[in-house]
Amino acid sequence: MNILEERIRKDGIINDNQVLKVDSFLNHQMDVALFKQMGEEWKRRFADVPITKILTIEASGIGIACIVSECFNVPVVFAKKSRTINIEGDMYTAQVESFTHKCTNQIMVSKKFLGPEDHILIIDDFLANGCALQGLISVVSQAHATLEGIGIAIEKGFQNGGQIIRNLGYRLESLAIIESMDGATGQITFRKQHHTAPQK
Ligand code: 5GP
Repeated sequence: MNILEERIRKDGIINDNQVLKVDSFLNHQMDVALFKQMGEEWKRRFADVPITKILTIEASGIGIACIVSECFNVPVVFAKKSRTINIEGDMYTAQVESFTHKCTNQIMVSKKFLGPEDHILIIDDFLANGCALQGLISVVSQAHATLEGIGIAIEKGFQNGGQIIRNLGYRLESLAIIESMDGATGQITFRKQHHTAPQK
């Protein structure tokens, strides 16, 4: 998706050649008009599957997922990272190692909000090693729901999450895939993607 790639080139900041900061438009200050365009692009790419719910993980997936949910006209459920007093009853849980914070979180989703009747589209901001996605996929499978697809804003193609998830057979649509990035020069290379809308 060229608009997102252009924005990453313009406003992304490379830390340590591994972490891309996009907090001026994606995960701190949020460009909602951009999210809307991203949502429309995922709607086009997943036009052939019935989606009943968007699933994401707190915190930075939530803003994007909310706008995407409007495009699909379905509710959003987000996996919570810590147990709070507001959470009661039965939960689906999974362990997720955080790439950016270098710690392990338990994620949880109430059994009230996901079940076998659901057709899920997972949405998240980044894909690095794929731990967050594996946790969300585990939650979907515990719910016996159908995972129709995964939409990622920025995949770091030089880390192995994308390959692992695609090898598992999941339909993964990343809007921008970074092949390489260099903190010293600021150079970012994107993977070329060719997309045609699926037949309905
Ligand atoms: P993974 O679980 O795939 O290793 O990492 C995905 C999660 O880590 C995302 O939900 C995102 O919050 C965070 N993350 C991974 N890489 C980056 C990055 O380069 N920049 C930012 N801002 N977040 C990242």
